[in-house]
Amino acid sequence: MSNQGIESFIRPGIATAAPYDAKHHDFAWQHPELDRLMSNECPLPPTPSVLAAAHEALSQTNLYPNSGQDLREALAEFCDVRMDNVILGNGSTEVLDVATRALIGPGDEAVISVPTYAFFETQTRLHGGTPVLVPMLDDFQFDVTGILAAITPRTKAIFLCSPNNPTGNSWLPPQLERVLAAGIPTIVDQAYLECGQSPSFAPMVLRHRNLLVTRTMSKAFGLAALRLGYMIGDPPIIDALHRLRIPFSISLIALRAGLAAVRNLDELETRTAFISAERRRLFHALLEMPNVHPFESEGNFILVDIRRTGRTAGEIVELVRAENVLVRAMTAHGLRDAYVRVTIGLPEQNDRFLAVFRRAISTTGVVAGSGPASP
Ligand code: PMP
Repeated sequence: MSNQGIESFIRPGIATAAPYDAKHHDFAWQHPELDRLMSNECPLPPTPSVLAAAHEALSQTNLYPNSGQDLREALAEFCDVRMDNVILGNGSTEVLDVATRALIGPGDEAVISVPTYAFFETQTRLHGGTPVLVPMLDDFQFDVTGILAAITPRTKAIFLCSPNNPTGNSWLPPQLERVLAAGIPTIVDQAYLECGQSPSFAPMVLRHRNLLVTRTMSKAFGLAALRLGYMIGDPPIIDALHRLRIPFSISLIALRAGLAAVRNLDELETRTAFISAERRRLFHALLEMPNVHPFESEGNFILVDIRRTGRTAGEIVELVRAENVLVRAMTAHGLRDAYVRVTIGLPEQNDRFLAVFRRAISTTGVVAGSGPASP
């Protein structure tokens, strides 16, 4: 019998990869009394028709789920593409991972516009590739020229996000066309599309065979715990991704509930309007506060520059948490602990955030430590 641990057999790069840090989620679940404005979730619960579909599916969970053709078809219609342009995933994270695995291997590079969703960078590393990070310009404009200049013969993918998490701004079609003209597979994460008025790039996949667009039902649809996302692309790449993806990775409950949600687009419109109205209200209230600068956003979140308050983002997050509101400090990608991101919540949650935040940014604010322990 060998005593050698199997960790020595693990492929290079995996044992040293940084794991996804879910502490803020676990902390929020342990403290349901807090306002969870830290993870860009939708504060509205699922509708009765979504709940009824999920319940009905629960009674059949002795059976394997179907492949989700009906949901693919409904989402294709919703996005103005064809069913063979669509692959479903267990959240958009699954399809982002499958696409990264399909495109990136050892020695390959992925060009990533940053700051952005960290998953692009972590999955690139995990699959043996090298992330090439291209910082956004002053005031968080996208650096199209910089992205094009970062392309080398080893570049196998470009990752963009629109609206971008955490800056909230969107790519414009002509900017994206410039990137697409380089001919490199370009993945645009549109997780937050239905939260505002950003242009949808889904129909552009019919003209640009190197474009892949990801979407999710976790944000404006408000089904984050069901785990339903999808990618839209040219049929040959979608077909290849289907071969890579684990079969049955989406539960019957998610498939049925997702179908009920996408069949109720009036509800989605209501949600988009609600998120947009609350975002506008929060943005204008933040604009009037001294020493902070909110950035215009088309997502369900707002990035706030707090560096002139004399406090770090970490300190402000602690002060806000001490008064029962959870927000996120943005520290990666050169954001230097100078930015806080707040998710758009229910009106009363947004009111509580504004009151607490106003105190936290004032130099006479209360000192952290009276609330629950930090995660
Ligand atoms: N893309 C972006 C930009 C995100 O911010 C997130 C999560 N917050 C995701 C994708 C993951 O979404 P999903 O729930 O569909 O996996």
